[in-house]
Amino acid sequence: MNPLHSAAVEELRAALLGEVITPADSPYDAARAVFNAMIDRRPAVIARCRGAADVIAAIAFAREQRLPIAVRGGGHSIAGHSTCDDGIVIDLSLMRGVHVDPERRTARVQAGATLADVDRETQVHGLAVPSGQVSETGIAGLTLNGGMGMLQRKYGLTCDNLLSAEMVTLDGEVVTASAEQNPELFWALRGGGGNFGVVTSFEYRAHPVGPMMLAGMVAYPVEQAVEVLRFLRDTISSTPDELSTDVVFLRVPALGFFPEEHRGRPVVGFFLRYSGPLDEGWDVIRPIREFGSPLIDVVEPMPLVTVQSMLDPANPRGHQQYWTSEFLPRFGSAEIETVARIGSDLPSPETVMQVIPFDAQPTRIEPDATAFSHREESWLIHIVGQWHDPAENDRCRAWVKEAGAALRAFGSGASYLNLLSEEPGTDRVAGFWDDARLRRLARVKAQYDPENLLRFNHNIPPAPA
Ligand code: FAD
Repeated sequence: MNPLHSAAVEELRAALLGEVITPADSPYDAARAVFNAMIDRRPAVIARCRGAADVIAAIAFAREQRLPIAVRGGGHSIAGHSTCDDGIVIDLSLMRGVHVDPERRTARVQAGATLADVDRETQVHGLAVPSGQVSETGIAGLTLNGGMGMLQRKYGLTCDNLLSAEMVTLDGEVVTASAEQNPELFWALRGGGGNFGVVTSFEYRAHPVGPMMLAGMVAYPVEQAVEVLRFLRDTISSTPDELSTDVVFLRVPALGFFPEEHRGRPVVGFFLRYSGPLDEGWDVIRPIREFGSPLIDVVEPMPLVTVQSMLDPANPRGHQQYWTSEFLPRFGSAEIETVARIGSDLPSPETVMQVIPFDAQPTRIEPDATAFSHREESWLIHIVGQWHDPAENDRCRAWVKEAGAALRAFGSGASYLNLLSEEPGTDRVAGFWDDARLRRLARVKAQYDPENLLRFNHNIPPAPA
């Protein structure tokens, strides 16, 4: 970094309550690392902000120094959208406060919070905000592109539960987005990703859930995948919204609740979570547990926070990650056979494939109500390609790409953008948003970020009306 930059960096340091980290500082390598070890970028500056005032100072610095800007909530973007080379990372990971209003059933959450932070505070009051499945994931990126998890069938996506957001604009102004204030921005923030400004806090609707839930897995030899998928397809619509049932393909991991004798074995299983009263839950899941002859049946009552973190050990930081996902509008024999074939041939012990019924509450919401446009009943297939050894990158990535192409043959072209690696040669942005919606998003982008300073995201180029 040249002397001019050094002086500027010192000014930024003085302006921030939080931390400023450059390549010359010893925490740099730890601070630049993101969840996906395949992403290895070297920002010029990392500004670890402590509040909106720090974010305003960091944006002003980026403008003066003409630096590209990446924004980081939890750093879990598999595509690496929360870091960049030679730019500034506005890192919100020191901003993790959560304040719950039990009377109004709302939670105000700072944008660096993880899902665990939110669950921890809301559960004190017997409440939960619908979010994702791995507790270390950042709530910010997850919300801005949708937010799917075990409570979605009952309460909708995370973005469907957003009541307001505080955002710092690229002009350094603090604005509120809600149904009453800046409603067009509020619409765009619910599914349009990190395109419009730096969100510093979110206010969510919370729901009475927990503290105890039923959760676990009923699994079969992977050779029975077609029957398991058919059973899910044929029964899901008659199950109550409190039940979340994904079908998961995996090799049995070395986790406490899985029987030791099956570890390493490829299986296909129902990943069950029931958020209603426990006695009703046992009745609801009985037909699933009575289906076929399961190899593994480990369903137990457990606290919501345990359910929300049970997949954490299988998703550690530092693995190589290459993901894809596809919404399938139909789930007939050809789709089921293709999904079963892919899931029976996972390329590494850590790779998992999830088959997620996309139905119930998210599909009951008016498609134009939010920028998250995909509201049709469908099946989301998510390939979580992960492995330890970088020497495996080419082989495993090629496998995921090939599997993704096979799924796309049945897809509508839409993918859940939060679960994607970079896919050169495909236009997933245009696949997710139809033309009219993209034009509307581009108008909001033109109003709040006309220079497209925030472009490390599923980018929507600005286009004024
Ligand atoms: P980051 O990597 O920090 O950021 C991602 C994008 O959001 C970037 O473009 C960034 O600029 C933008 N952004 C982040 N914060 C802000 C902000 N405050 N203001 C403006 N823009 C911002 N998704 C689900 O829906 N359900 C799941 O169950 C789920 N499970 C996951 C499990 C794992 C292990 C991982 C790695 C991901 C999972 N995801 C899931 C995907 C997840 O939603 C995305 O990775 C999401 O980006 C995570 O948010 P983050 O804050 O950590 O993202």
